[in-house]
Amino acid sequence: MPKIVGIDLGTTNSLVATVDSGIPYVIADADGQRLCPSVVHFPAAGAAPVVGLAANRVRVLHPATTAYSVKRFMGRRGADIPREDMLLTYPVRGDGAGPVTIPIHGRDFTPEEISAEVLKKLKFAAEADLGEHVTRAVITVPAYFNDAQRNATKRAGELAGFTVERIINEPTAAALAYGLDRLKEHSKIAVYDLGGGTFDLSILELNAGVFQVLATHGNTRLGGDDLDKRLVDFLAKRIKASGGPELTWPLLARLREAAEAAKIRLSTETETEISLPFLTPDFSFSHRVTRDELERLMRDLIEQTRAHCLRALADAKLEARQLDQVILVGGQTRMPLVRRLVSEWFGCAEFEEERGSLRLGDSFHERSGPLLNTSQNPDEAVALGAAIQAAILSGEFKNLLLLDVTPLSLGLETFGGLMNVIIPRNSTIPVKAGEVFTTAVDHQREMLIHVLQGERERAADNWSLGQFAVQFERAPRGVPRVGVQFEIDANGILHVLARDLKTGAQHVVEMKSAVDVADAEVQRMVEESVEHAFEDLTARRWIEAKLKAQEVLTAAQSGLTECGAELDAAARSQVELAVTELQAALATESPATKTGDVARLKAAHTALDTATQPLADLLMDKAMEAILRQRGVVS
Ligand code: AMP
Repeated sequence: MPKIVGIDLGTTNSLVATVDSGIPYVIADADGQRLCPSVVHFPAAGAAPVVGLAANRVRVLHPATTAYSVKRFMGRRGADIPREDMLLTYPVRGDGAGPVTIPIHGRDFTPEEISAEVLKKLKFAAEADLGEHVTRAVITVPAYFNDAQRNATKRAGELAGFTVERIINEPTAAALAYGLDRLKEHSKIAVYDLGGGTFDLSILELNAGVFQVLATHGNTRLGGDDLDKRLVDFLAKRIKASGGPELTWPLLARLREAAEAAKIRLSTETETEISLPFLTPDFSFSHRVTRDELERLMRDLIEQTRAHCLRALADAKLEARQLDQVILVGGQTRMPLVRRLVSEWFGCAEFEEERGSLRLGDSFHERSGPLLNTSQNPDEAVALGAAIQAAILSGEFKNLLLLDVTPLSLGLETFGGLMNVIIPRNSTIPVKAGEVFTTAVDHQREMLIHVLQGERERAADNWSLGQFAVQFERAPRGVPRVGVQFEIDANGILHVLARDLKTGAQHVVEMKSAVDVADAEVQRMVEESVEHAFEDLTARRWIEAKLKAQEVLTAAQSGLTECGAELDAAARSQVELAVTELQAALATESPATKTGDVARLKAAHTALDTATQPLADLLMDKAMEAILRQRGVVS
């Protein structure tokens, strides 16, 4: 059976790993490098691109033709990316609903095409190491990647010549690499992943040898790069204060490189010298930075990750002390401050900075908090986990199945513009769920299936993943029945099936186009749903009350037209008064908030119900009479 390799396609670095005789290892390239910077340089139009370390080195000299951090743009629409994220040393184009492109030497590259160059380099290294063609891969993505981003990653793999066997979440891969499948049954693990560009906190539970992701939370735009920027800004101020030159792009790139190197040194040293000789022919710069100073500069950024940890714990309905282990993933977690803070937040009882790790399978029942496990190399854990998953798929490893969760709820827009959730957030995938819908208007010939992702009550506040129409025969409202089923496959890709239950005619749509799929930050969506919970609920209550009120109003008005004249004057004026009051209550809807006085509307609805009782009786009598006449009982 051909080998399946595991790939960590990272924002900053990418790695390829495999399993040999049951042992996972990261594959080194011909130069002995295991970490391949996710950087691609295009030397000239049509010339072969330079990838990895070599590209990273020329990034300073050729900033406009060297692309890096493109993972941030994968599967995203220009409109969803804040302007400041586009301010890189190379040009990034994209606004509106179109995808992002990177114009270099007169050609527009997609983020997938650039990622594919990184993947090709990894493929080449794997083929050299294994001595065979490598065409199958498992690729990891951050837990917060939505459908469009997962699909873009899959496409990048295909462009590089891989069949992508599985897209798996990075934290799940990391837990596998830490060998946590050997922990006791029902162990609970938090995976704290702070890499170059993203942060994720996931909570997993081990059930009968299966990892289940209980919750995941994070920030797709927070990582080591942001920490570097703090040091760069600090140094830039010093340079300016000592009469240094204006910082052009190439100088800034040098500064950034020096800052990152100093940050890394300060993980093992307590003080370091940052020196930038000959920034200009007559200006050199050097400055001593202590670990304390660095920690003061960066602490608040690291502290931003705490809220995500708390949110994930709340989503999983757990307290930190109920966790068995906290594992660290991502190069940035080597920073001692990160380890100290994480240990503090999770109440890790016996954290020892020097030793930093413990044997797996230890009995932890005596400790009061989880164990901070730093036994694995945080840069490599994800790639190794992907390789283990690949080995499971190819049958080399058995008895383990991976389960991930949906980061956001998926649902449909229903009448009145509300979100109807079909698969709730944090559902374990693969998952299938469905519901039957009907029409709200007479003689409707089709129903629009508008697929939404998000946590807000109103459809318009969620992200639209796409829409399509299901046709059926004309029928009174409430008669047509359309079954809608959502299925998320093992790769996290959503398939929507809509079936006319009368004829059996059906549509199946795969939600995969990056252009159709709106993207924004999952984190922002969840935060906004909490922030707007009250007004969202008010909006839902108003819309639901309004729909019911409109129905009663239409019925009362047509009843009045049909047999109002036969009602006695008092009863009729009661109905008319109640109709006027209901119309007035409906008119309290403010155009700005799209909500109105729910209490008044409900009271008016009840009043109209009561007032129309004689009218309803009259209509019922007439209907009975008509039936009896039809059957020849009366004439
Ligand atoms: P990753 O995305 O996991 O490759 O992580 C890359 C990030 O980790 C970059 O921001 C690096 O600067 C950072 N990093 C790597 N090694 C260290 C270290 N020893 N101390 C602090 N940060 C590090």
